[in-house]
Formats: sequence, C-alpha cells, structure tokens
Amino acid sequence: MGSVLGFMWLRFDPRRHTKETTMAVKDPVCGMTLEEADAAATEQHRGTTYYFCSADCAEEFRNDPESYI
Ligand SMILES: [Zn+2]
Repeated sequence: MGSVLGFMWLRFDPRRHTKETTMAVKDPVCGMTLEEADAAATEQHRGTTYYFCSADCAEEFRNDPESYI
C-alpha cells in the first residue's frame, strides 16, 4: 500500500498544471532574478524594458542607465 501511494506521489507534478504566464528577468542594478509579474518597477531604455525589484533600483538605473547595461 505504501509503495503505491509513493508511486502516485512521484507521478504528481503540480507544475505541469500551472500555466506559465510569467518570465524570469534580471534586475540590472542589484543582479537579482525576479518574475516579470513581481517587478516593483520597470524602465524603458533604448527600446528595451528593464525590470526592478524595487523603486530604489529603478531610480538608480534612471540616474545612470549606461552603467547597468
Ligand atoms: Zn534590485
């Protein structure tokens, strides 16, 4: 009985049933990886969108974008 339940558990992968709606992105200021949907702020620079973990990082980037790309 225990082995049957173990087998069932191993077969169950909740990630398969989760729709992938977000994308992993990198905050260029602090280097942190975050989900696009979790970004606290975004900035456009030269046609590219950058994602930030916080408004502080976005502000740092705005002050001197060239040093972060
Ligand atoms: Zn950051």
